[in-house]
Amino acid sequence: MNSEEFRQHGYQVIDWIADYMENVEEYPVLSRVKPGDVRAGLPAAAPEEGEPFERILKDVDEIIMPGVTHWQSPNFFGYFPGNTSGPSILGELLSAGLGVQGMMWVTSPACTELETHVLDWLAEMVGLPEKFKSTATGGGVIQATASSGSLVAAVAAREQATGGRSNEAGVSDGLTAYTSAEAHSSIEKAVRIAGIGSANLRKIETDETFAMRPAALAQAIRDDKVAGRTPVLVCATVGTTSSTAIDPVPEIGRICAEHGVWLHVDAAMAGTAALCPEFRFLHEGLEFADSYLFNPHKWMLTNVDCSAFYVADRRKLTAAMSVVPEYLRNVASESGEVIDYRDWQVELGRRFRSLKLWFVIRSYGVKALREIVRGHVAMAQEFAAWVEDDPDFEVAAPVLLSLVCFRHRGGDEVNQEIMDRVNEAGRMFMTHTKLDGKLTLRLSIGQETTGRKHVERAWETIRKAAGAIA
Ligand SMILES: *Cc1c(COP(=O)(O)O)cnc(C)c1O
Repeated sequence: MNSEEFRQHGYQVIDWIADYMENVEEYPVLSRVKPGDVRAGLPAAAPEEGEPFERILKDVDEIIMPGVTHWQSPNFFGYFPGNTSGPSILGELLSAGLGVQGMMWVTSPACTELETHVLDWLAEMVGLPEKFKSTATGGGVIQATASSGSLVAAVAAREQATGGRSNEAGVSDGLTAYTSAEAHSSIEKAVRIAGIGSANLRKIETDETFAMRPAALAQAIRDDKVAGRTPVLVCATVGTTSSTAIDPVPEIGRICAEHGVWLHVDAAMAGTAALCPEFRFLHEGLEFADSYLFNPHKWMLTNVDCSAFYVADRRKLTAAMSVVPEYLRNVASESGEVIDYRDWQVELGRRFRSLKLWFVIRSYGVKALREIVRGHVAMAQEFAAWVEDDPDFEVAAPVLLSLVCFRHRGGDEVNQEIMDRVNEAGRMFMTHTKLDGKLTLRLSIGQETTGRKHVERAWETIRKAAGAIA
């Protein structure tokens, strides 16, 4: 593709995306293909000769689009929001256009310095303690996902607890980690990959709001110490995926400080809300945390992958993650004056991801980002009030932000059937969880284009489905 052809097809693709943004509401939200349908439309082998771009785009329309679930639809209420936005798409495009490999400062200084700088901005925007900034002892890095951020935290915690011995000699038995029974599955995965093992992960019981009980945590740590084990990591969740439960980080932090255990805080979904002063309470207790993360790729209009990961003492992280082969040695790295982000993550290679985040923050401005959060939270509160007013339904967990957990009083089967009917009809999409062992419906409000009329229609659709079953 020469630059003239690139220009022409580039305009076509941008037009295609702009049309998609305008019409996304017209598609059934959940893709209706069956397993294997998409592959059945594709030729068995790669083409020997290049094909015209028009034909490729035509296949996007005909083969790919039916197999897409429309996360950008204003009627997407499933899992958690996964926003993209104009500035984010353009930042991503520019990153691909430059095609740099930002593994070290020297391999593209702007890739490193913009990331450090924008993550310092972000720390300020959501009110993180000073220690998480690069200007202090810590700093931020963009990880692909919260899962990889939590893994890196687990490895750093393990090395802190074992004085660097696990990296050298391998992981020995007797290391333990702690999280709540409501924590995200990525925490258990991180604990497994870090070699601590699922059997040594204590899933601490939760209270009636589904938040970790600090007294139970303290007891578990004491019991393990008495038994001669080494507590390595506590992971607190600020805004669980299931129900937005908030673990009491100040109390948990004091326990971690007392026992010298690494505290990692997972605020993947909820962290964005801390843009608003009225939701800063989410970050109470972070002065005790060793690492923290949230996902701009959920609620902050920056397309996946963009998870903002912060560490309070960057030397502990790089000590755990750095392996330097001869062919990557260079003067800048050895001067100690630069950050080499390869030492902050699992992978060596890295994309220029900060461009899209920078574009988003500058294009919207912090004020508009705050207003988007407030709009979603207000709609969730209103929806919860409608649920409460309906004698057939109940709210199943406190509605702290933009997620409403609720259920029909008719029991699990009725709720399953409501969800199936609503999702099959295609006008909206929602998912479920289990709370107190009961099937619970979740309405997660967080796509930028979702307005009150969409939420109103969602409630109408749910009630109609319930009426049709009863
Ligand atoms: C979504 C979520 C995750 C996982 O995020 P990824 O970026 O997909 O790994 C982890 N923790 C919480 C609390 C989440 O809401």
